[in-house]
Amino acid sequence: MKYYQIDIDTSEYGIEVVCAKLLAIGIENTVVTDPADIQELMDKKESYEWDYVEDDVVKGLQQTPMVTVYTESEDEVELIRDEITQLALAAYNGEFTGEMDLGPLNLRVSEQDDSQWKDKWKEYFKPFRVAEHIVIKPSWEEYPDLKPDDKLIEIDPGMAFGTGTHETTSMCIQMLEKYLVPGQKVLDAGCGSGILSIAAVLLGASEVLGVDIDETAVEVARENLTLNKVDHAARAEYGDVTQGVEFQGDLVVANLMAELICMITPGIPQHLAEGGLYITSGILVEKEEMVKEALEGAGFAIVEVMEKGEWCCIAARKGEA
Ligand code: SAH
Repeated sequence: MKYYQIDIDTSEYGIEVVCAKLLAIGIENTVVTDPADIQELMDKKESYEWDYVEDDVVKGLQQTPMVTVYTESEDEVELIRDEITQLALAAYNGEFTGEMDLGPLNLRVSEQDDSQWKDKWKEYFKPFRVAEHIVIKPSWEEYPDLKPDDKLIEIDPGMAFGTGTHETTSMCIQMLEKYLVPGQKVLDAGCGSGILSIAAVLLGASEVLGVDIDETAVEVARENLTLNKVDHAARAEYGDVTQGVEFQGDLVVANLMAELICMITPGIPQHLAEGGLYITSGILVEKEEMVKEALEGAGFAIVEVMEKGEWCCIAARKGEA
């Protein structure tokens, strides 16, 4: 998509005047860059307990206050140009002086095209072997080296999380490959792109329910289930796993974050038969103990902890290990 970016340099006082002028000609969406805001946040650094402030943020402190408008319409660009010229003229004639100084009122228009960078990441998403017998392939790539007993997951993640390249997703798939017994019923809590649901069906699950609190993820997951021809056994539904998801089965897999896992864990046993397996990941190594405690507190026995980079994945059984 092609669009225009219009940057208007002004002063701190001028931000409001420029925005009001733009509003008067129907431009409601403006982006304001105000170094005073950044300074204010930096001053509160202590109270926010920030560990780290990006260099770009600090650079923002040296900037002139600026109002930015994005538009696809050339007419709108001209309208804005006229309006700002008039304002500059009024300033030149002494209408805004002293504290009311509007700053330079320079206007820069640049043409942008987001179609190139939007798909740029696709260049880096290549087919790869994620587990012993499972290969992941982006839907737009070929993978010629499949072995006879390989299972292939085709994925188009769209806006959802889950290409399989992340350590946490790949560990979940490896755990599924190791522990899932054909015929089992699986709950994929936080299904994202649906990648773990697909893996579960390919590994022999008889029924899989994927739930996600993100509607876009549910849509993407449904498309991927169809793309992989596993929609006879797996479905994706909108839902919060902590709130009344109806499911009773043999295995739950949840690749969330340590804090979220601790939050959902007390409710997981109700979905599992005695001896059922719970695979969780998204856990930073330093949070392993915290999650283990939550698991044990909910009546799970730890079966295996896998580590990859700074992440770990835990498999636990309901009841005795
Ligand atoms: N399962 C995929 C995606 C993991 S990302 C993979 O392993 O790659 C985690 C997903 O969990 C996100 O899509 C997020 O929207 C979803 N999520 C977070 N909290 C949730 C909750 N309480 N119930 C259901 N889904 C949740």
